[in-house]
Amino acid sequence: MSGATDHSPETESPRQRFELDDRGFNEVPTKYRRYYRHWQGAGDQLEPNEVICPVCKVVIRSTREIRVGDRLYCMACMTRLRIREDSEGHLEADCEY
Ligand SMILES: [Zn+2]
Repeated sequence: MSGATDHSPETESPRQRFELDDRGFNEVPTKYRRYYRHWQGAGDQLEPNEVICPVCKVVIRSTREIRVGDRLYCMACMTRLRIREDSEGHLEADCEY
């Protein structure tokens, strides 16, 4: 894998890319494990490509930076999520029904 520049046709600025490793999240099929991890509690920090599922509290990880308006799917609890910004500028996920 290289840090190749993202030449997506979108007009927004390129998103930072992330390589995901398997953190041993065994609640989803093996091929999807690297897209999730358990929140470690106090002291844990979210990367720009991570957001916490408001339903089951697992951390959903993306191969690219997460931005407001993105849609994610939590495979652990089968919830559709939409990303918004909270009052402090942090990314948060809302359930979509
Ligand atoms: Zn979930």
